[in-house]
Amino acid sequence: MATQAVFVDTLPSYNPATGEVVEEIRRTSPEDVPAIVARAKTAQEKWRETSIVERCALLDRLKQAMLAARNDLATIVVRESGKPYVEALFSDVFVSLDTAAYYSANLSKLLAPERVPHHSSAAKLKTGRLFYEPVGVIAIISSWNYPLAIPMGQIIAAVAAGNAVVCKTSEFTPKCGEQIGNLFLDSGFPEGLVNIVQGGGEIGQALIDARPDKILFTGSVATGRRVAEACAKHLIPSVLELGGKDAMLVLEDANLEVASSAALWGSFTNCGQVCLSVERLFVEKSVCVSFLALCVEKTKTLRLGNGADPSTDVGPLIRPQNVQRMKDLLADAVERGARILCGGNARPDLGECFFEPAVIAGVDSSMRLFQEETFGPILAVQAVQNSEEAIRLANDSPFSLSASVWTSDNERGKQIASCLRAGAVMINDAISYFAIAEAPHGGCNASGWGRSHGRAGFLEMVQPKYVDVDGLAGKEKPWWYHYNASLGAAADDFLKFEFGGLGAKISHARGALKTFFRDHGFKKK
Ligand code: NDP
Repeated sequence: MATQAVFVDTLPSYNPATGEVVEEIRRTSPEDVPAIVARAKTAQEKWRETSIVERCALLDRLKQAMLAARNDLATIVVRESGKPYVEALFSDVFVSLDTAAYYSANLSKLLAPERVPHHSSAAKLKTGRLFYEPVGVIAIISSWNYPLAIPMGQIIAAVAAGNAVVCKTSEFTPKCGEQIGNLFLDSGFPEGLVNIVQGGGEIGQALIDARPDKILFTGSVATGRRVAEACAKHLIPSVLELGGKDAMLVLEDANLEVASSAALWGSFTNCGQVCLSVERLFVEKSVCVSFLALCVEKTKTLRLGNGADPSTDVGPLIRPQNVQRMKDLLADAVERGARILCGGNARPDLGECFFEPAVIAGVDSSMRLFQEETFGPILAVQAVQNSEEAIRLANDSPFSLSASVWTSDNERGKQIASCLRAGAVMINDAISYFAIAEAPHGGCNASGWGRSHGRAGFLEMVQPKYVDVDGLAGKEKPWWYHYNASLGAAADDFLKFEFGGLGAKISHARGALKTFFRDHGFKKK
């Protein structure tokens, strides 16, 4: 007999800092998903007709609502994701607010039709324009690590472009998902335009099977692969924002005081659970000992605890099993010759999800720590002879999301950036480009495809439509029927005229013109 999955009808809102289930949130039934997508489609048909002014006014109201609710929103993010309160404000709340501000200020520019100038003389008498039309219903499947910033960044861009959204937030952060739905409704967006569906992978799967017009997926490589396969089955286009293994290259002329503080924050922010985390540090040998000493000294000062305490620097991991994974990754590295310089212990005295931030040296690509996405608070360093070796090792990864270069010479930094395989490279900063609305975010290879944020991200939310107006409406085109030998000769002259040098242009201009002044032979003589 076939067995069927049975789902209880609520999702626990679990606090990783305390281990408590604070609230139960209603689950969506997979059977309801097709009707929710159909409802979104109906809402979208009306929404696409709204003016840019109307959409911007609603985005502005959304921004005001988020600003008013900022402390409550941050508190819920802390409660479900475990991150420190300051990080919830600076990352989740800031990015959500800034995305709304960016689109309400720039939407008319982003959606303005674009003139398409024609270079070919065959098309000179035509006028082309690109119009940006909505895609339809966009399904967004999101991760838990930035439970407001990631879904809000994508939902806002999608509705600004005239789409409806069905968003599956993570089952780890159901309260954040509920809040997102309420924010759009309370700000006056039409019913059915932004829909939150709650549940685990089965809801994500049901959402793809309901055949939305596009999928924006953020999550792990393993799930991303499953999503890509399911999308391919239905020919649904997708954007995949997957994992990263970002390299930080510290050159000997870097300001080590600054670079070591950056390494700490880049490796430990959100307890290292960031797609853009600094997970591989390549430090020039001449400065590696001093750099590591600074990292260790500073790491020892970090305060581990409940993110709700305003002075906490590093919160818990998302679930207890992630603590064991950190221990396994460190044990594998130590067994192969790496040295833990500080931290790296579970802290059950604080709670079952707590793990001390660790600094580990002598890591290399034979170790799991440099092969797999860490997604935890481990600052892992390999000393390198020079920048060439740092570039080679940084590029030696299946991931290519982002990277950073640390140097007092910006020109050298830019030159190194041009050699790194990554969707973004920051010079003397890390991660923060994610919060720059104009900066595109996304990678290639195992890090996925497509972009979110910036103009490149906005183009994922629209269908470009090319409209062409002919300047000689009363004339049959030279390339239409009937064909004959003289048209063949004229076409030959035209090719030589169009693609030849100046001499060819002069000698074949007359012959080429014959293509335009020809009798197609349809008129009765
Ligand atoms: P997962 O891949 O576990 O989950 C991502 C989303 O997919 C969740 O909503 C999950 O549901 C859902 N899902 C699970 N199975 C399926 C399925 N079969 N079909 C459709 N959807 C499914 O990732 P995490 O949430 O654990 O996020 C961490 C990962 O995300 C890391 O690898 C990180 O690097 C990456 N990430 C990438 C970012 C980027 O921009 N490149 C940004 C942030 C994170 P549920 O969790 O409810 O089971």
